[in-house]
Amino acid sequence: MTRVLAIANQKGGVGKTTTAVNLAASLVHLGKRVMLVDLDPQANATMGSGIDKGKVDATVYNLLIGEAQINDVLVKSENGGFDLLPANRDLAGAEVELVEAQARESRLKTALGGISGNYDFVILDCPPALNLLTLNGLVAADAVMIPMQCEYYALEGLSALVNTIEQIRSAANESLEIEGILRTMFDPRNNLANEVSAQLIMHFGDKVFRTIIPRNIRLAEAPSFGKPVLFHDKESRGALAYLALAGEMIRREEEERQQKAAPADNNGEAVRDEPAASPTDAREEPAAPDAAAAHSSNG
Ligand code: ATP
Ligand code: MG
Repeated sequence: MTRVLAIANQKGGVGKTTTAVNLAASLVHLGKRVMLVDLDPQANATMGSGIDKGKVDATVYNLLIGEAQINDVLVKSENGGFDLLPANRDLAGAEVELVEAQARESRLKTALGGISGNYDFVILDCPPALNLLTLNGLVAADAVMIPMQCEYYALEGLSALVNTIEQIRSAANESLEIEGILRTMFDPRNNLANEVSAQLIMHFGDKVFRTIIPRNIRLAEAPSFGKPVLFHDKESRGALAYLALAGEMIRREEEERQQKAAPADNNGEAVRDEPAASPTDAREEPAAPDAAAAHSSNG
Protein backbone atom coordinates (compact mmCIF):
# COMPACT_ATOMS: atom_id res chain seq x y z
CA MET A 1 0.00 0.00 0.00
CA THR A 2 1.24 3.48 -0.82
CA ARG A 3 1.76 5.88 2.08
CA VAL A 4 1.53 9.55 1.12
CA LEU A 5 3.53 11.74 3.46
CA ALA A 6 3.38 15.55 3.39
CA ILE A 7 6.43 17.37 4.77
CA ALA A 8 4.90 20.61 6.00
CA ASN A 9 5.53 23.61 8.19
CA GLN A 10 4.41 27.11 7.21
CA LYS A 11 7.57 28.50 8.77
CA GLY A 12 10.33 29.01 6.21
CA GLY A 13 13.75 27.43 6.29
CA VAL A 14 13.10 24.74 8.90
CA GLY A 15 14.43 21.86 6.80
CA LYS A 16 11.33 20.68 4.90
CA THR A 17 13.07 20.29 1.55
CA THR A 18 16.25 18.86 3.08
CA THR A 19 14.06 16.31 4.84
CA ALA A 20 11.96 15.51 1.76
CA VAL A 21 14.95 14.88 -0.54
CA ASN A 22 17.08 13.00 1.99
CA LEU A 23 14.24 10.95 3.42
CA ALA A 24 13.28 9.95 -0.13
CA ALA A 25 16.84 8.83 -0.93
CA SER A 26 17.17 7.03 2.42
CA LEU A 27 13.92 5.11 1.91
CA VAL A 28 15.17 4.05 -1.54
CA HIS A 29 18.41 2.92 0.11
CA LEU A 30 16.32 0.74 2.45
CA GLY A 31 14.62 -0.91 -0.52
CA LYS A 32 11.43 1.17 -0.81
CA ARG A 33 9.89 2.50 -4.02
CA VAL A 34 9.57 6.27 -3.67
CA MET A 35 8.15 9.22 -5.54
CA LEU A 36 8.96 12.80 -4.47
CA VAL A 37 6.54 15.60 -5.35
CA ASP A 38 7.80 19.19 -5.38
CA LEU A 39 4.90 21.43 -4.33
CA ASP A 40 7.00 24.56 -3.96
CA PRO A 41 7.51 27.12 -6.79
CA GLN A 42 11.03 27.67 -5.36
CA ALA A 43 11.70 24.16 -6.78
CA ASN A 44 14.45 23.44 -4.27
CA ALA A 45 13.50 19.76 -4.05
CA THR A 46 13.68 19.53 -7.85
CA MET A 47 17.16 21.09 -8.02
CA GLY A 48 18.33 19.14 -4.96
CA SER A 49 17.37 15.93 -6.76
CA GLY A 50 19.61 16.85 -9.68
CA ILE A 51 16.84 17.95 -12.06
CA ASP A 52 17.24 21.37 -13.70
CA LYS A 53 14.01 23.30 -13.07
CA GLY A 54 14.68 25.33 -16.23
CA LYS A 55 14.68 22.25 -18.41
CA VAL A 56 11.60 20.30 -17.37
CA ASP A 57 8.81 19.95 -19.93
CA ALA A 58 5.95 19.82 -17.48
CA THR A 59 5.57 20.32 -13.75
CA VAL A 60 3.12 19.81 -10.92
CA TYR A 61 1.52 23.03 -12.17
CA ASN A 62 0.37 21.32 -15.38
CA LEU A 63 -0.91 18.43 -13.30
CA LEU A 64 -2.91 20.64 -10.93
CA ILE A 65 -4.60 22.69 -13.62
CA GLY A 66 -5.50 19.51 -15.47
CA GLU A 67 -3.28 20.03 -18.53
CA ALA A 68 -1.18 16.93 -17.96
CA GLN A 69 -1.25 13.42 -16.54
CA ILE A 70 1.26 12.08 -14.04
CA ASN A 71 3.23 10.24 -16.73
CA ASP A 72 3.71 13.48 -18.70
CA VAL A 73 5.29 15.12 -15.65
CA LEU A 74 7.23 12.27 -14.04
CA VAL A 75 11.02 12.28 -14.29
CA LYS A 76 13.60 10.00 -12.74
CA SER A 77 16.09 11.47 -10.27
CA GLU A 78 19.14 9.43 -11.22
CA ASN A 79 21.02 11.07 -8.34
CA GLY A 80 18.40 10.07 -5.77
CA GLY A 81 17.08 6.77 -7.11
CA PHE A 82 13.47 7.96 -6.85
CA ASP A 83 10.86 9.31 -9.26
CA LEU A 84 10.08 13.02 -9.13
CA LEU A 85 7.20 15.29 -10.04
CA PRO A 86 9.19 18.50 -10.51
CA ALA A 87 8.23 22.14 -9.95
CA ASN A 88 9.31 25.49 -11.27
CA ARG A 89 8.12 29.08 -10.97
CA ASP A 90 4.95 28.29 -12.96
CA LEU A 91 3.56 26.59 -9.90
CA ALA A 92 3.10 29.99 -8.23
CA GLY A 93 0.38 30.66 -10.81
CA ALA A 94 -1.68 27.64 -9.82
CA GLU A 95 -3.06 29.40 -6.76
CA VAL A 96 -4.52 32.23 -8.84
CA GLU A 97 -5.69 30.06 -11.73
CA LEU A 98 -7.49 27.62 -9.47
CA VAL A 99 -9.36 30.28 -7.46
CA GLU A 100 -12.64 29.58 -9.21
CA ALA A 101 -11.95 25.97 -10.08
CA GLN A 102 -13.98 23.08 -8.77
CA ALA A 103 -12.47 20.85 -6.09
CA ARG A 104 -9.39 23.01 -6.18
CA GLU A 105 -7.93 21.62 -2.96
CA SER A 106 -8.20 17.97 -4.02
CA ARG A 107 -6.52 18.23 -7.44
CA LEU A 108 -3.33 16.55 -6.28
CA LYS A 109 -5.20 13.76 -4.50
CA THR A 110 -7.12 12.99 -7.68
CA ALA A 111 -3.94 13.03 -9.77
CA LEU A 112 -2.11 10.72 -7.36
CA GLY A 113 -5.01 8.27 -7.35
CA GLY A 114 -3.77 7.05 -10.73
CA ILE A 115 -0.43 5.78 -9.42
CA SER A 116 -1.40 4.21 -6.11
CA GLY A 117 0.33 0.87 -5.80
CA ASN A 118 3.39 1.85 -7.86
CA TYR A 119 5.19 3.24 -4.80
CA ASP A 120 5.66 2.42 -1.13
CA PHE A 121 6.04 6.11 -0.27
CA VAL A 122 5.01 9.34 -1.96
CA ILE A 123 6.69 12.31 -0.29
CA LEU A 124 5.29 15.82 -0.74
CA ASP A 125 7.60 18.80 -0.20
CA CYS A 126 5.24 21.65 0.77
CA PRO A 127 5.98 25.39 0.47
CA PRO A 128 6.41 27.60 3.56
CA ALA A 129 2.79 28.80 3.69
CA LEU A 130 -0.62 27.45 4.54
CA ASN A 131 -1.72 28.16 0.96
CA LEU A 132 -3.59 26.22 -1.71
CA LEU A 133 -0.49 24.19 -2.62
CA THR A 134 0.05 23.06 0.97
CA LEU A 135 -3.69 22.43 1.24
CA ASN A 136 -3.49 20.15 -1.81
CA GLY A 137 -0.63 18.35 -0.09
CA LEU A 138 -2.53 17.89 3.17
CA VAL A 139 -5.69 16.70 1.43
CA ALA A 140 -3.72 14.15 -0.60
CA ALA A 141 -1.67 12.90 2.36
CA ASP A 142 -2.17 10.02 4.75
CA ALA A 143 0.09 11.74 7.26
CA VAL A 144 2.09 14.91 7.89
CA MET A 145 5.68 15.07 8.99
CA ILE A 146 6.55 18.40 10.62
CA PRO A 147 10.21 19.41 10.61
CA MET A 148 11.02 22.10 13.12
CA GLN A 149 13.94 23.93 14.60
CA CYS A 150 13.91 24.04 18.38
CA GLU A 151 13.69 27.83 18.66
CA TYR A 152 11.75 30.29 20.77
CA TYR A 153 8.72 30.81 18.49
CA ALA A 154 8.66 27.28 17.13
CA LEU A 155 5.90 26.03 19.42
CA GLU A 156 3.63 28.97 18.55
CA GLY A 157 3.90 28.22 14.85
CA LEU A 158 3.26 24.59 15.54
CA SER A 159 -0.14 25.25 17.09
CA ALA A 160 -1.29 27.09 13.93
CA LEU A 161 -0.26 24.09 11.86
CA VAL A 162 -1.91 21.60 14.20
CA ASN A 163 -5.14 23.67 14.01
CA THR A 164 -4.99 23.59 10.22
CA ILE A 165 -4.48 19.84 10.27
CA GLU A 166 -7.53 19.48 12.53
CA GLN A 167 -9.62 21.63 10.20
CA ILE A 168 -8.59 19.57 7.22
CA ARG A 169 -9.43 16.44 9.14
CA SER A 170 -12.96 17.58 9.80
CA ALA A 171 -13.54 19.08 6.35
CA ALA A 172 -11.70 17.12 3.69
CA ASN A 173 -9.47 14.31 4.89
CA GLU A 174 -10.66 12.67 8.08
CA SER A 175 -7.89 10.05 8.14
CA LEU A 176 -5.04 12.60 8.07
CA GLU A 177 -2.55 11.72 10.81
CA ILE A 178 0.44 13.49 12.28
CA GLU A 179 3.26 11.14 11.33
CA GLY A 180 5.64 12.90 13.64
CA ILE A 181 7.54 16.03 14.57
CA LEU A 182 11.15 16.07 13.48
CA ARG A 183 13.78 18.14 15.27
CA THR A 184 16.09 19.59 12.61
CA MET A 185 19.38 21.53 12.60
CA PHE A 186 19.72 20.53 16.22
CA ASP A 187 22.61 21.81 18.28
CA PRO A 188 22.71 20.12 21.70
CA ARG A 189 25.07 22.80 23.06
CA ASN A 190 22.25 25.30 22.75
CA ASN A 191 20.28 25.42 26.03
CA LEU A 192 17.19 26.90 24.41
CA ALA A 193 17.14 24.09 21.85
CA ASN A 194 17.21 21.54 24.66
CA GLU A 195 14.42 23.36 26.53
CA VAL A 196 12.19 23.60 23.47
CA SER A 197 12.93 19.96 22.70
CA ALA A 198 11.82 18.94 26.22
CA GLN A 199 8.61 20.98 25.84
CA LEU A 200 7.90 19.33 22.51
CA ILE A 201 8.15 15.90 24.08
CA MET A 202 5.92 17.03 26.96
CA HIS A 203 3.21 18.20 24.52
CA PHE A 204 3.51 15.66 21.75
CA GLY A 205 5.04 12.61 23.46
CA ASP A 206 5.65 9.71 21.09
CA LYS A 207 4.78 11.90 18.10
CA VAL A 208 8.25 13.42 18.37
CA PHE A 209 10.65 11.32 16.33
CA ARG A 210 13.46 9.87 18.41
CA THR A 211 15.84 10.53 15.55
CA ILE A 212 17.24 14.04 15.68
CA ILE A 213 18.73 15.73 12.63
CA PRO A 214 21.92 17.55 13.66
CA ARG A 215 23.16 20.74 12.09
CA ASN A 216 25.57 19.36 9.53
CA ILE A 217 27.45 21.18 6.79
CA ARG A 218 27.25 18.20 4.40
CA LEU A 219 23.46 18.47 4.40
CA ALA A 220 23.70 22.12 3.41
CA GLU A 221 26.30 21.44 0.69
CA ALA A 222 24.64 18.47 -1.01
CA PRO A 223 21.93 20.46 -2.90
CA SER A 224 24.61 22.46 -4.72
CA PHE A 225 25.73 19.16 -6.26
CA GLY A 226 22.13 18.20 -7.04
CA LYS A 227 22.45 15.18 -4.80
CA PRO A 228 20.97 13.80 -1.61
CA VAL A 229 23.62 13.75 1.12
CA LEU A 230 23.82 9.96 0.91
CA PHE A 231 25.57 10.38 -2.45
CA HIS A 232 27.61 13.39 -1.35
CA ASP A 233 29.09 12.02 1.90
CA LYS A 234 27.49 8.82 3.08
CA GLU A 235 29.47 8.76 6.32
CA SER A 236 28.39 12.24 7.39
CA ARG A 237 26.24 12.77 10.47
CA GLY A 238 23.54 14.19 8.21
CA ALA A 239 23.43 11.11 6.00
CA LEU A 240 23.37 8.77 9.00
CA ALA A 241 20.62 10.79 10.69
CA TYR A 242 18.31 10.65 7.65
CA LEU A 243 18.95 6.92 7.27
CA ALA A 244 18.04 6.52 10.94
CA LEU A 245 14.87 8.54 10.37
CA ALA A 246 13.83 6.33 7.45
CA GLY A 247 14.49 3.26 9.59
CA GLU A 248 12.50 4.67 12.50
CA MET A 249 9.56 5.48 10.22
CA ILE A 250 9.49 2.00 8.70
CA ARG A 251 9.77 0.35 12.13
CA ARG A 252 6.98 2.48 13.57
CA GLU A 253 4.67 1.59 10.72
CA GLU A 254 5.42 -2.10 11.10
CA GLU A 255 4.70 -1.87 14.83
CA GLU A 256 1.42 -0.09 14.15
CA ARG A 257 0.42 -2.70 11.63
CA GLN A 258 1.21 -5.50 14.07
CA GLN A 259 -0.70 -3.77 16.86
CA LYS A 260 -3.74 -3.42 14.62
CA ALA A 261 -3.47 -7.05 13.56
CA ALA A 262 -3.06 -8.50 17.04
CA PRO A 263 -4.11 -6.03 19.75
CA ALA A 264 -4.42 -8.75 22.42
CA ASP A 265 -0.76 -9.70 22.08
CA ASN A 266 0.38 -6.24 23.03
CA ASN A 267 0.82 -5.26 26.66
CA GLY A 268 1.46 -1.60 25.85
CA GLU A 269 5.25 -1.79 25.94
CA ALA A 270 6.68 0.00 22.93
CA VAL A 271 10.01 -1.21 21.59
CA ARG A 272 12.60 1.19 22.95
CA ASP A 273 15.50 1.13 20.59
CA GLU A 274 17.85 4.04 20.34
CA PRO A 275 18.15 6.12 17.19
CA ALA A 276 21.51 6.56 15.47
CA ALA A 277 21.54 10.26 16.18
CA SER A 278 20.69 10.98 19.81
CA PRO A 279 20.84 14.45 21.38
CA THR A 280 24.25 13.68 22.84
CA ASP A 281 25.86 12.55 19.59
CA ALA A 282 24.29 15.17 17.37
CA ARG A 283 27.22 17.56 17.63
CA GLU A 284 28.51 19.22 14.50
CA GLU A 285 32.18 19.31 15.41
CA PRO A 286 34.28 16.14 15.24
CA ALA A 287 34.61 14.07 18.40
CA ALA A 288 37.47 14.95 20.75
CA PRO A 289 40.78 13.46 19.65
CA ASP A 290 41.22 10.00 21.11
CA ALA A 291 43.78 9.16 23.77
CA ALA A 292 46.34 7.83 21.28
CA ALA A 293 46.30 11.02 19.24
CA ALA A 294 46.57 13.10 22.42
CA HIS A 295 49.60 11.08 23.53
CA SER A 296 51.41 11.37 20.25
CA SER A 297 50.86 15.13 20.14
CA ASN A 298 52.20 15.40 23.67
CA GLY A 299 55.45 13.99 22.53
P1 ATP B 1 11.54 26.76 2.72
O1 ATP B 1 10.57 27.07 3.79
O2 ATP B 1 12.16 27.98 2.10
O3 ATP B 1 11.01 25.81 1.71
P2 ATP B 1 12.74 24.54 4.02
O4 ATP B 1 11.89 24.42 5.25
O5 ATP B 1 12.45 23.63 2.91
O6 ATP B 1 12.76 26.04 3.49
P3 ATP B 1 15.48 23.80 3.71
O7 ATP B 1 15.54 24.44 2.37
O8 ATP B 1 15.48 22.34 3.78
O9 ATP B 1 14.25 24.36 4.53
O10 ATP B 1 16.64 24.32 4.64
C1 ATP B 1 16.91 25.70 4.80
C2 ATP B 1 18.42 25.93 4.74
O11 ATP B 1 19.05 25.25 5.82
C3 ATP B 1 19.05 25.36 3.48
O12 ATP B 1 20.11 26.18 3.10
C4 ATP B 1 19.57 23.99 3.92
O13 ATP B 1 20.67 23.57 3.15
C5 ATP B 1 19.95 24.26 5.35
N1 ATP B 1 19.78 23.07 6.19
C6 ATP B 1 18.68 22.31 6.33
N2 ATP B 1 18.85 21.33 7.22
C7 ATP B 1 20.13 21.46 7.67
C8 ATP B 1 20.93 20.76 8.65
N3 ATP B 1 20.45 19.73 9.32
N4 ATP B 1 22.19 21.19 8.85
C9 ATP B 1 22.69 22.26 8.18
N5 ATP B 1 22.00 22.96 7.28
C10 ATP B 1 20.72 22.58 7.02
MG1 MG C 1 11.63 24.06 0.99
